[in-house]
Amino acid sequence: MSVYECSLERMTDKIKTMSKFGDAGHGGITRYTLSPADLQAREEFTKRMKAIGALIEIDDVANVYATLPGSDPDAKRIVMASHSDSVKNGGNYDGILGVMSAMEVLETVAEKNIPHKHPLTAMIWTNEEGSLYPPAMMVSGIVCYDYLPENIKGKFKYEDMMKSKSVIDSSETFGAALDASGYKGDKKYRLSPEKYKNMFEIHIEQGPILEDAGNHVGIVDCVLGMFNYRFRFYGQTVHAGTFPMNKRQDALFAASQVICYLHSEIDKLGHPELVYTTGEIVCHPNVHTCVPDYVDFSLDCRHESPELREKVLGIVKGCAAREWAGCRCEVEKMWNRDTVYWDKKLFSYVQEAAEESGISHQVLHSGAGHDAQFVAYMLPTTMIFVQSKDGLSHCEPEYSTPEHCTEGATILLNAVLKADAE
Ligand SMILES: [Zn+2]
Repeated sequence: MSVYECSLERMTDKIKTMSKFGDAGHGGITRYTLSPADLQAREEFTKRMKAIGALIEIDDVANVYATLPGSDPDAKRIVMASHSDSVKNGGNYDGILGVMSAMEVLETVAEKNIPHKHPLTAMIWTNEEGSLYPPAMMVSGIVCYDYLPENIKGKFKYEDMMKSKSVIDSSETFGAALDASGYKGDKKYRLSPEKYKNMFEIHIEQGPILEDAGNHVGIVDCVLGMFNYRFRFYGQTVHAGTFPMNKRQDALFAASQVICYLHSEIDKLGHPELVYTTGEIVCHPNVHTCVPDYVDFSLDCRHESPELREKVLGIVKGCAAREWAGCRCEVEKMWNRDTVYWDKKLFSYVQEAAEESGISHQVLHSGAGHDAQFVAYMLPTTMIFVQSKDGLSHCEPEYSTPEHCTEGATILLNAVLKADAE
């Protein structure tokens, strides 16, 4: 098969243009889902896709689909998708790179008249970040609902999602924003196994592994399994100036001991790929003259292997069996998910496309969640990562070079053509 190349010039222009929508004035963007900035990005997508003769469809949850017909009108569509929304003060690549790469593939196919049998679709997912209307991956959760495992689907009921409140103004809901957006289309256009054959998603790596190894593109094999636990500590509030140290039950001191204990015990397992984070902590009464009587904190832990995650869980649960600084400790599971593996055939197409195009690459896991991971329960799915400068993401300095972005699109294009030819 011949190897086709995407256009650096066209990709650079798309990056520059999309970076204007939600420009926060210091290098990055804030582009909440269905905000005026997000609608501008969608209009740009539609304008460019119409210009190459793509058919535009919008489903009932504002996902936008642009499709170039193939030679077989009965063949299922191959879709390339990612999201157009960002976190607050996010960068110009997370999400939108996957949309721009999908556009670039369609533009290259149209420009070079590349023959293909299946219709090819570029798609924008609504509200992946969930940064204004939680949760993250809300709309892929809605669309893939019937296919999701029981312990996940409960969080994505359509009616509940429509009532999701804005984190800025609790009188605003996702449902109302959807109604007001002008992007509430028809449910019949939703991504489905009846109409779609498989899905590819390009995303920035959001970590330093590719850059450290000197590779431009990652061939992703799975999204890591994870669990999220909550630790709670119960002590007694007393006056900071009058109560002796040896009689205190300080819940914050107890929590800090457990955080250090977790780090030392989990590190002893000796797996450098195992990652765990305490990112959220609540302290009561949170007054500088009071000894805290209540603290809780989160623990997020990710690794591919269920056996290793089980070992970490043993350490976590062991914490509740003891007193810490005179305080009682409880641990509670918030949620967990298994490792989601991408479709092996699609993975091999991406790998072959990377090899044939001579672009430096390596196999990677995804530590972050993406819409593709919900789609994987419904359709054969895979992902491609593009190198992130300094591993930074969800922040304004987030950066991938136009060259690396174009190389990602080139691999995507050639992998899609392999899927088309099978
Ligand atoms: Zn993303």
